[in-house]
Amino acid sequence: MNCPLCNSDQIHRSPRKTLGHKILSLFNKWPYRCYICGHRFYLMQEKRDEGEATPPLQQS
Ligand SMILES: [Zn+2]
Repeated sequence: MNCPLCNSDQIHRSPRKTLGHKILSLFNKWPYRCYICGHRFYLMQEKRDEGEATPPLQQS
């Protein structure tokens, strides 16, 4: 996946915190943010079985 603005692959998925994010998740849409240019955008989330036990990206 790449940023649609600068085409960087330095993007990360925003953590799901808000009700809005939960609603978006129902449509398999997730907010992403580009580390390089700071652009925020939405991508379709690949549906993987059930559960989110091991999120691929975790901000510490
Ligand atoms: Zn970017």
